[in-house]
Order: sequence, then structure tokens, then C-alpha cells
Amino acid sequence: PLRVRVDALTPTILLGVREARHLQVLRLTPGDSLRVFDGQGSEAEATLTELTEVGAVLTLGAGVQATAETPQPVTLAIALLKGDKLSDVTRAATELGVARIQLLITRHADAREIGTQKLLRLRRVAEEASKQSRRAVTPEILEPMPLAEFAWSGTLFLAHPGSRATLAEHLNWQAPVTVLTGPEGGFSDPEVSQLQQRGAVLVTLGPRILRAETAPIALLGAIVATGV
Ligand code: SAM
Repeated sequence: PLRVRVDALTPTILLGVREARHLQVLRLTPGDSLRVFDGQGSEAEATLTELTEVGAVLTLGAGVQATAETPQPVTLAIALLKGDKLSDVTRAATELGVARIQLLITRHADAREIGTQKLLRLRRVAEEASKQSRRAVTPEILEPMPLAEFAWSGTLFLAHPGSRATLAEHLNWQAPVTVLTGPEGGFSDPEVSQLQQRGAVLVTLGPRILRAETAPIALLGAIVATGV
């Protein structure tokens, strides 16, 4: 069924002109079934009860178990990158199941800030990609913060070339998971040792150096390849 994102799963849901047009283009008529989701993990069946040029009314049906999420939330923490690279990372990371993306300002990051327009674009990319991959959750894209202030709960995997451990060896779902990747210039030595002192697990992605936009996808790929 067609999936429509709504603000909240209320017994009656009103859709605006844009969504109504979309339903008309798809030739839906009153009585047709669809799915609604709120981007926070809730999803339900719904029936189209009214459709006009200017809006639509849906009636909420039974809740549907959202099955597309990992056993614990996965956060991608990533240094700010140049150009449009973060859009590609956001799209792929959303398909790969992340619950949130935390942008970070690191010593060698390509930028110290991100413009509002760019941040909004990343949020739109995440929303589109979550629809595409049939998730009920749209990952949050959090404004950049300095690496030293970034606090995580659960396990943090820091991808750092030359490390010996692998993510697969240490991944367990007892607690939330965070994966952290650096900018093109990598992390500085003090950054790595501070993260290590704070309990980060340093992991390798093999003997090749991956580009800053490839490394997060490889790490998240290693997670989904376990079948979660
Ligand atoms: N000269 C930098 C260094 O030695 O850290 C290379 C940085 S690499 C282009 C960008 C980021 O991707 C790194 O900070 C790291 O997070 C990740 N990365 C790339 N290749 C990796 C590998 N083979 N193992 C672990 N992490 C890797």
C-alpha cells in the first residue's frame, strides 16, 4: 500500500493540498487503504474517506509493527565534509538504518559550520530515503557540535586506519551503537587518544584507505550484513 507521512497518528487525519494531489495522481478513491507513519517509529493502516482538490481525510486503522528498525538505535557521527558529500552519505546511511546522524566539527574537518539551507536539504534527503526504504523512522540530522562535546551512550566504534579490531567482533545489541568516521584529513592523534580514553572501540575497515564519504557506508554496511 501507499505510505504517507503524517504529523501524528490521530483517529482522523487531515491531509493538505499537496498530499491530496498526490493521491489523485495515483488515482486513489475513497475506500482505498493506505499506510500512515509519523517518522518517529509509529505506523498504522488507514482508509481514505474523502478526497477533494484541496485536501483529504483519512481514518486511522490498526497499528502496524514497524519492523524496519535495528534492535538498538544506530547513530552515525561524522565530521563535516566538503560540497554535497553529506547528502550522499545521508541517503545511504538512511537506507542502512541509522536512527540519527550527528554532524561533528573536528580538528581537520572540511568546514566549521553548515548553512541552514544545507542542513534542511540533508533533512529532506533523509525523509525521501526513509520513504524509499520503507522505514517508519526518519533519521534526525543534528546540527554540528565539537567532537570534544559529543557524548554517546552504549558502544562507540571509531573507524581509524591501522586499528586491529573489527566492528563485527565487538557488535552486540545490549546497548545503542554509534559509528564515528573522520574527515578526509582523518582524526588528530589527541582526538583519537581522547576518544579511546572515553571508551571508544577503534576499528579497521581493512588495509585500504577509504574516502571520508565511503568509510561510514562501509561501517554501516558491516552492521546490516549481520542481518539486522
Ligand atoms: N590520512 C587519514 C588518516 O590516516 O586517518 C585518512 C583519513 S580517511 C580518508 C577518512 C576517514 O575514513 C578516517 O578518518 C576514518 O574514519 C575512515 N577510514 C578510511 N579508511 C579506513 C580504514 N581502512 N580503516 C578504518 N577507518 C578508515
